Amino acid sequence: MRQKIVAGNWKMNLQSEEVDSLVNALNTSNFPSDVEIKIFPSFIYLDRLTKAVKNDIHVGAQNFFYEQKGAFTGEVSYAQLASIGIKDVLIGHSERRSIFHESELLLKEKVDVAISNGLNVIFCCGEPLNIRESNQQEDYVKKQLEESLFHLTAEQLKQVVIAYEPVWAIGTGMTATSDQAEEMHLSIRNWLKDKYNEEVANNVSILYGGSCNASNAKELFACSNVDGGLIGGAALDAASFSSIANSY
Ligand code: PEP
Repeated sequence: MRQKIVAGNWKMNLQSEEVDSLVNALNTSNFPSDVEIKIFPSFIYLDRLTKAVKNDIHVGAQNFFYEQKGAFTGEVSYAQLASIGIKDVLIGHSERRSIFHESELLLKEKVDVAISNGLNVIFCCGEPLNIRESNQQEDYVKKQLEESLFHLTAEQLKQVVIAYEPVWAIGTGMTATSDQAEEMHLSIRNWLKDKYNEEVANNVSILYGGSCNASNAKELFACSNVDGGLIGGAALDAASFSSIANSY
C-alpha cells in the first residue's frame, strides 16, 4: 500500500504571529490517521515548528543548499536542516526552476545530496502552459524525471515522493481535471515500471499539486494513481488543509 500524503507548501507567506495562529489551528484539527501530513514553512520558522506542531505533522524545508557548510552567504545547508531534526525537503518546485533558474543538473545534485544524507524528498515536476497546449506534456515531464531522478537506485527511490504540478495550475485556480491528473500520474507510474520494476513503481507515492482545494480534492484523490496532494494557497488555512486531508 502506498503512503497517502497531504503536504502544505507555505512558500514565502505568513508573519510570525500568523504562523502561531496557523499552528494552533493545525494542532487542534482532525487529520486522518492513514494520511501523512507534512508542512513546509519558511526557514526562519522551522526550528520552532519542529517543537510546536502536534498531530504527527512532519515539518520540512522548501529548499536547501547542497554543500555541507562554508562561504555561501544567505544559504542554508542540508546538514544545518538535519541538525534541527528536519527530515523532509522539497526539490524542483516550479518557482525554484523558473525564478531561481534551478537546472535539471542542479536538481540532480540536490537529489543526490538529500538522499545520501537521509532526507526524504518531494520531487516536483510539471509542464508549463505552452507545453500542455501543444500536447507535449508527457515528453516534458518524463525528461524532468529522467534528468534529475531516474539515476537513483530502487533502494534510494524509497526516500522519494513525486509531485506532479502542472505549472499552469499552480496558484492560478485552474486545477487540472481528474482525467488530466490521472493520465499523467499513470504515465509516471509506467515510466517507473519501465525504469525499475512493477513493485518499485507501485510503492512510489505520486502527489498532485496545482490549485488543489477543499472543493476539488475529493475528485482528484479518487484517481487510482493520485496518492495525495502538494497544496499551496489552501494550506495556509487550517480548515481547508484538514478538509483536503480528509477528502480520501
Ligand atoms: C504549490 O505551490 O506547490 C501549489 C500547488 O500551489 P497552489 O496550491 O497554490 O496552486
